[in-house]
Parts: sequence; structure tokens; C-alpha cells
Amino acid sequence: MHIHIFWDALSPQGLQIPVARTIMAMVGVHATVIENRVRVMGYVEERKQINAQALLDSVQAYKRHHKLTDPVLLVLSQDLFRNGHSFVFGLARESVGAAVVSAARLGNEFYGREKSDDDLIDRLSKEGAHEIGHLFGLDHCAERECIMFRPDTLDELDRKKKGFCDHCRKQLATHIAAKFP
Ligand SMILES: [Zn+2]
Ligand SMILES: [Zn+2]
Repeated sequence: MHIHIFWDALSPQGLQIPVARTIMAMVGVHATVIENRVRVMGYVEERKQINAQALLDSVQAYKRHHKLTDPVLLVLSQDLFRNGHSFVFGLARESVGAAVVSAARLGNEFYGREKSDDDLIDRLSKEGAHEIGHLFGLDHCAERECIMFRPDTLDELDRKKKGFCDHCRKQLATHIAAKFP
């Protein structure tokens, strides 16, 4: 088993390898990156956003068609929402091993700050590892520095460390062993 990262062609280029490496270091599971071939579905014109649930439907269909049982993380640049939320950084569907993260709100430019690839790599890796944590059965964590803490803002995301707290790390190891013996 390994993590498949699908990098959409419109996502920031050149960051694939550092993001995959950082996620691997955090989660402790091998990860590969290929260009995304999943159809990007769920765009809502009035919101100029993609419905993350519709996008996960598309990843789910792709996985079923290709008989892919390993976890998949799709990285794209379009802004995401889910019903009841104005936006989401990412979303995971544990039952099918599919997750998505968006770079839209992770770059400094979005907040009028100076662009930094290092910041973007950090944030994409943290969000990616968080969603992968969900795919391996982890819930949200109250520890503000833990990767499984649910950030509402960029500052809350930046405050998190690039790793799991002791409790989540133990859970992660147990869940991975149970799901992928
Ligand atoms: Zn979460
Ligand atoms: Zn934790």
C-alpha cells in the first residue's frame, strides 16, 4: 500500500516532490505523485467554487474504475466548498479512501502577503497529511499543534506542527496496521 497523490495540471508546479516528501515524513507511509487524471467535477458558477463532495464522487468513481484500493489525495488549485461552509481547505471520505486539498487559500498571495513557495509547501503538506489522517481513520484532535487539529484560518494552520501528537500518532499506527495488514 502507498499513498497516491494526484497533482492537477493547474496546481502550483514544481512543488510536487517536496510536498510528497514532507507528507511521507509526517505520515510514515510511502507516497507517489502523478499528474491528475480524475475529472474535475462539481464547479458551481454562482460561487466560483468546486463542491468538494462532488469532486470526491469523481475520485471515488475513478478509483472504482481502476480498481485502486490505496488512499488517493487529489491536489488542485480551485477553491472548494461543502454545504454549510463558505469554503474548505480540504475534505476526506474515509469509506472510499479519497481526499482532496485545494491550494487556493494556502498561498500568501490570497491574503495580500508576499508569495512564498516554502510556505505553500508547508501548508499543502499539513493539509494533505491531515486529510490522509482522516483516510486512515483519525478524527479531529483538540491539541492545537497536532496535524489533526481542524484549522478555520490560515494562522491556525500555520500554528500546527508538521506532525501528529503522541495520541494521534499511536492511533495512526494502529489504524494503518488494521486497514492495510
Ligand atoms: Zn479534518
Ligand atoms: Zn492529535
